[in-house]
Amino acid sequence: MPKVYTHALGCKISYCDNREAEELLCAIGWTLTKNAKEADLFLLTACTVTQKADADLRKLARQLKKQNPGADLWIYGCWANVAEKHEPFPEPALVIKGKAELEKAIGKLSCDAPKETSLERNRLFVKVQDGCDRFCAYCIVPFARGVPKSMPYSEILSRVKKAREEGIKECVLSGIHIASWKEDGKDIADLCAALLKDTDLPRLRVSSLDVTGASEKLRKLMIEEPRLMPHLHIPLQSGSDRVLKLMNRPLSRAQLMESMEAFLEEVPRMMLSTDIIVGFPGETEEDFQETLSFVGKISFGKVHYFPYSPRPGTAAAKRVKDFVPDGVKKEREERLRKAAEEAAKICRAPFQGQTFKVLTENKTKDGILGFTENYLRVCTRKELTENEIYELTIDGTETKFIAQ
Ligand code: SF4
Repeated sequence: MPKVYTHALGCKISYCDNREAEELLCAIGWTLTKNAKEADLFLLTACTVTQKADADLRKLARQLKKQNPGADLWIYGCWANVAEKHEPFPEPALVIKGKAELEKAIGKLSCDAPKETSLERNRLFVKVQDGCDRFCAYCIVPFARGVPKSMPYSEILSRVKKAREEGIKECVLSGIHIASWKEDGKDIADLCAALLKDTDLPRLRVSSLDVTGASEKLRKLMIEEPRLMPHLHIPLQSGSDRVLKLMNRPLSRAQLMESMEAFLEEVPRMMLSTDIIVGFPGETEEDFQETLSFVGKISFGKVHYFPYSPRPGTAAAKRVKDFVPDGVKKEREERLRKAAEEAAKICRAPFQGQTFKVLTENKTKDGILGFTENYLRVCTRKELTENEIYELTIDGTETKFIAQ
């Protein structure tokens, strides 16, 4: 059977796109491999939100081709959609823009292998939405993915049901801007409620959610429904009103704070994570301190922070005279790293000694890894099986939290 080595770089939507491509390949008899040397094809699915993702993609492609020069290389995802905005790709590669091109490329692969899938995962990212028309000043995504499109509920439901048949225990609803999902007047909270009602899925999780989707309805559902995991990733980007405005973000610091606090106060064992951009054009020391103070007030379990990097074609990229010097960005990043570590410690402290339902993942030399309901990463030395849900007490010795 021909083998494909796949890798998703960047945001969760890359994981969705990658999974979609894996499924199409497996449906015509390809198998997945993690051994680059035995692969016939490398499929790299990358986002284009930061320059780092761009650099990581090139680096990985180079490494893989060095290990196995005979394998073909395909590039898929957001990066491919705006490939002409990047430097030309250094390796010979097929750049695939969108699902139609992907299906065409897969259609050209001849294969006599039996039609079966060999996807073995315990969590499935289910893409419920694509596209965005928000045009945040730093973001290339609206140019790369087009206007918002919601997947019909019937399709999402059949995807989740199929996942259950495959033994998947947790589905993660993903998309570019899933707060904009809608169908017949229903929103993302209604979608979660319907999936929980119509399936026996043990765990449903919402991935990155714009604060406009973090509604009271969703909060109430999280309180009432133990199968809806008490974790949200709400991008903050900046804690300064002035910078939020420059970024063309929809809500103020106070509104973001109020929404996040409501989830933390009302939903038992709630955990929040976030994204922050450091050194957005025009960000002053005072602005940055506002961001630090936000992180000090909301104990995020995980802060993903990125130094601002201009994406050609976006509004912010044109504001060259306001660019923050690299040295200043580096120094702010370091301060934010410390604040984020402190916030993560504060977030985890009350959960020490408590018992969680942990969905196990892969085994490592230190033990088996898994995630709690509230998306805290756990490592245990207990002899357990992968892809099962176990009640585990965080005793700090045999079972402990590890950095995300
Ligand atoms: S909401 Fe803003 S940051 Fe998110 S995808 Fe849309 S434009 Fe980009």
